[in-house]
Amino acid sequence: MSKKLTIYVQNVIYCCNFANHFLFWPIRNMIATEQYIREAFEYYNKLIFSNSLPLIPIKLSRAKSFLGQLTYKRKVSLFGKTQYTDFCLRINCKVDLAKDELDDTIIHEMIHYYIAYNKIADTSTHGVQFRRLMNAINKKYSRHITITHHGTQEQNDQLRDKKAKWHVVAVVKMKDGKTGIKVIPRVVERIVYYYNNVSRSPEVDSVRLYLVLHPYFNQFPNSDKLNVVYVEPDKLVEPLANARQLIYKDGHIQYLKSAQ
Ligand SMILES: [Zn+2]
Repeated sequence: MSKKLTIYVQNVIYCCNFANHFLFWPIRNMIATEQYIREAFEYYNKLIFSNSLPLIPIKLSRAKSFLGQLTYKRKVSLFGKTQYTDFCLRINCKVDLAKDELDDTIIHEMIHYYIAYNKIADTSTHGVQFRRLMNAINKKYSRHITITHHGTQEQNDQLRDKKAKWHVVAVVKMKDGKTGIKVIPRVVERIVYYYNNVSRSPEVDSVRLYLVLHPYFNQFPNSDKLNVVYVEPDKLVEPLANARQLIYKDGHIQYLKSAQ
């Protein structure tokens, strides 16, 4: 075994966390600023997490795909030791939110941070441990943190890019059962580079490549960085329904012959 077998997999935890729970149309008057997020982080760190979370870089995002997002790098050594580094909290500054919605989004990401920082094993991105913490916080602090990915019509319209585009998508099955996806530039060399490197990672079980025309994939970063975005597998069924599977064979990318 060579060291090439160990790669960084950047776990972009992908969190829409669209609030979908209010019965009244709330007064929307909060556009996130860096200072506000930092102060909220410090406030809730003290209130909820006993000041146990070191402050991490905070970035404003104008992404079309999420309200909040925690990113970090996870490195697994050949001996199975896991390290987490480069935590970053991103909050969308494009969507006008009620203060409670913005705060719920920040706390939602802080729960992800708490779980990763303390290396708590969970069943999935929003698994048993996440829900347990979220429910306890909602109850104790009268919050309305959710894991729903449905937004209000207005929020979705503010964010979503709905035009169907052609994408090359890698569906990466991890050995721990998770499913990751990656949108790769439509250039043969870059597809091959991604496929070869990620296939060799000790964390990876299989990599499948697809050519697909669907707006679902617009929300994911398009690059050949050796990372994945974790998704729930059932979210891919409809977007991949008419995709054509590609295979890498003898140095070429070609269509899988069997008809779908
Ligand atoms: Zn989340």
